[in-house]
Amino acid sequence: MPSWRTHRAIVKAAWPPELPRGELLRGVLRGVVEPDIEADLVTRCRKKRCREARAPHHDPPEALVRWYYDLAHFFRASGDMYSAGRALGRALHYLHDGAVKTKKWLLLNVHDDVEAQMDQLASQLPHICNGAKHRRSNNPVEALCHAYALTSALLRQFAADAISPQVGAYYKARGRRKKIYATSAVVVAAVATAVAMPYAALVPAAVGLLAISFWMPRDYVLAMRGGAMCLRPTWGRPAMTC
Ligand SMILES: [Zn+2]
Repeated sequence: MPSWRTHRAIVKAAWPPELPRGELLRGVLRGVVEPDIEADLVTRCRKKRCREARAPHHDPPEALVRWYYDLAHFFRASGDMYSAGRALGRALHYLHDGAVKTKKWLLLNVHDDVEAQMDQLASQLPHICNGAKHRRSNNPVEALCHAYALTSALLRQFAADAISPQVGAYYKARGRRKKIYATSAVVVAAVATAVAMPYAALVPAAVGLLAISFWMPRDYVLAMRGGAMCLRPTWGRPAMTC
């Protein structure tokens, strides 16, 4: 994985003018190296047996990165800019590691070498990326510039997506309403069917109600971003939570 110096150099170079520095930047510089100290655990299930494993850094689950992004918004809306930065930094760590392509079939792991070269090039950010190709790669310039581009995009998105606590509360209520409407629709349909054919509607109704209880409306994600609710991650056990 890229060195701590590289992770931090990418963040500093990509920091957009529309984001405040201060506590938020301090938190990001801490969070961007944290997953190497405190691991996030993902749940892996095979044939009914589930176990927890360290989240893979070079091929991170998208849901994990997204969840930390939403968590960062949660803390920002609650006024805790340092924790917001830490959560955002954790998401960025995985994006950086994911920019380096590893070759598992090689006995000698090439990626340590790529990362040593990235470390040397990091001081030349951002101009080294002017006109450079960027993608998930084992070429150090391409990987470094890919990590830089992803960081810049996520930080700008973070500034643009901000939701106030009032709007967060609105989305929470709207998500609840949708769940109540869906539940009522299933119950009404079940009762209507049961009048004609007693018991025939019981099983489909039970399945429908179960599905609704697992369903997470998009409004809830927006409510979390506004600090109105804390969603439990679907991918495993995070090292940091709300
Ligand atoms: Zn890592």
